[in-house]
Order: sequence, then C-alpha cells, then structure tokens
Amino acid sequence: MVIVMKVGASEAEISNVMRKLESQGFAVHRSTGVERTILGAVGAKVVDIRDYEVLEGVKEVIRITQPFKLASRHFRPEGSVIRIRDVDIGGPEVVVMAGPCTIENFEQSERIAASVKRAGAKVIRGGAFKPRTSPYSFQGHGVAGLKALREAADKHSLLVVSELMEQCQIAPAEPYIDIIQVGARNMQNFGLLRDLGQLRKPVLLKRGMAATVSDLLLSAEYVMSEGNHQVILCERGIRTFETHTRNTLDISAIPVVHKLSHLPIIVDPSHAVGIRDKVAPVSRAAVAAGADGLIVEVHHDPDNAICDGAQSLFLEQFDQLMNELRLIAAAIGRTMQPAA
Ligand code: PEP
Ligand code: MN
Repeated sequence: MVIVMKVGASEAEISNVMRKLESQGFAVHRSTGVERTILGAVGAKVVDIRDYEVLEGVKEVIRITQPFKLASRHFRPEGSVIRIRDVDIGGPEVVVMAGPCTIENFEQSERIAASVKRAGAKVIRGGAFKPRTSPYSFQGHGVAGLKALREAADKHSLLVVSELMEQCQIAPAEPYIDIIQVGARNMQNFGLLRDLGQLRKPVLLKRGMAATVSDLLLSAEYVMSEGNHQVILCERGIRTFETHTRNTLDISAIPVVHKLSHLPIIVDPSHAVGIRDKVAPVSRAAVAAGADGLIVEVHHDPDNAICDGAQSLFLEQFDQLMNELRLIAAAIGRTMQPAA
C-alpha cells in the first residue's frame, strides 16, 4: 500500500500516519520528494484503506497489487535519481560506465581510465571477483585488483563500479567501490541482496539470464526492503534460442521497467551481444530507447585481454561510439558528458 500525502502536509500529520501504519504491523518506507511525501507500507495485513484516507494530510491511498512495492513506480512517480558524488543516474543525463572485463594491473586500469574519461565516461568498470562459467578460468585479482582500479579511477576523477559475488567480500571490498555490481548469475542470491540492503551505497543489479522483468524488480525489492533504496537496474541480455549473439538484448525491458518502476535502468551491450562489432549498434539502440546509461567493456589491447577481449571495444571505437551516442541523446532531449 502506498500513501500519498498532500502537498504541504505537516510533519505531525506524516508522523501520525506512520505511527498508525506501524501499529498495524507495517514496515514503513518514507520517500520525501520535492513536492510531496509518499509512504510505502509493506506488510501482509489487509486493512480498510478508508481508515487511512480519512487521516489529516492524506491525499490518496493506493493498494499496490504488484508483488514489488518499494520498486514500484507508485512509490516514487517522478522517478529516482541516484546521486553518487557529482554523478546523477536516472536524471536527464545518460551516464556511461566503461572499462575492462577484469582488472589486470594498475597500468592497464590507468590507461583505460585516462581514455574513457576523455571520451566522456563517468564511471570505470572492472571485475576483481569474476563469476566464471568454469572453475579453471581466471577468477579475478580480488581486493588487490580493486586497489589498482581505485587508484586509476581517483587519478582521473572517475567513479568505480565492480562486482561482488559473496557476502564475505562486502567488508574487505566495499571501501574501494562506489557502485556495487550484482552480476546476472547472482540476481537471486537473496542473502547477498539482503546484506547489500544494509549498506547505504548504490547497487547495480543485473538481470539474470533467465529472469523476467518482474523477477528483476523483486530482486531489487530485496535490497530496498532492507532500507537501501539506491538500486540501478541493468538489462544485459537474456538467453534465447538465438545463437548468433551471446545473449539477446531485450530492448523493450527499458520502457517496461520505466513504466513499472521508478528505478533507473542501464544497458550492458557487451555481455548482451558478446561480439565487438555488434556492441555499437545495440548501444545506440539502447540510448534511443531511453536507457539511463550504459556499461560497456573497453580495453586498450583487447586481443591480449585476460577475458572478454572479443566483446571489448578498442579505445578509438569507444570514442566514436560516445560521439554517436551524444547525437542520439540530444535527439531525445537528454544530455551526455562532452568529450574532453
Ligand atoms: C560483468 O559485467 O563482468 C559480468 C560478468 O556480467 P554479467 O553478470 O551480466 O554476465
Ligand atoms: Mn565481461
């Protein structure tokens, strides 16, 4: 149930509603917007909504029939903007994250950071804990890798996004990361999601390869129900019967999510298609379809990358893609960081 307070409702009126909800066993999540306050009430209890409609300061009570509540668009109709230092995700700007599949060493991270920053990226990506299909494949450099990525990012004023796979990685790794990525394979690792919900740090939640949009939003709900509302969703392709690409990018997930949820959604074109020459076309399509950002694999020497070289753009290809994306963003009334 969502309770929309009137514009100008007093703090006493808001507290009164919250108290009543809590006394009826609801967990209350408060969203203070520019215009009005919205209260999300989560709980199984069936109540007569008129008991709330009559309270002072209440404009409207909406019963949410969807299984996800806090992630629902009703909870924040104007949309969520996730601010990380001076970067806003979910606002008018299309924010691009770029970098290698995995952190190899400081020199590699620094070289890529310098280049993607010049091209207009705001966040550098790079995995230190890699979810590999085979246990014999490279598993990532762990915290040592994150330290290298952090140093490279700080040198070029970039934010860091990196994946964590297990709860025990949170404490040692979290200080080096600005946005914690949950990979496709862990979208339903509920223990991990709950623990990330205890943090007050943005989470980039990737769609599982066989997950519906509702499944994705319910996973977001796990993080949010613990109190961390800073969730960014990511469409990264789903498994279909098509074999010419690594996965199939579900472009329609972008408007579907924007309709159902207030959370920002970005697109990972690299893991979606898995082949370098298809990354730019689907990136352009994603921005045209309204994605709030992209996360793209870029490498200075893809032929010798430790992993995912075949889907990583060369630095110059990324520069060109960014120039194209700026034109598309402008055409649909959005902004993008200019190249330096
Ligand atoms: C990644 O971004 O490094 C990754 C492994 O992606 P996904 O979880 O989408 O497969
Ligand atoms: Mn990769």
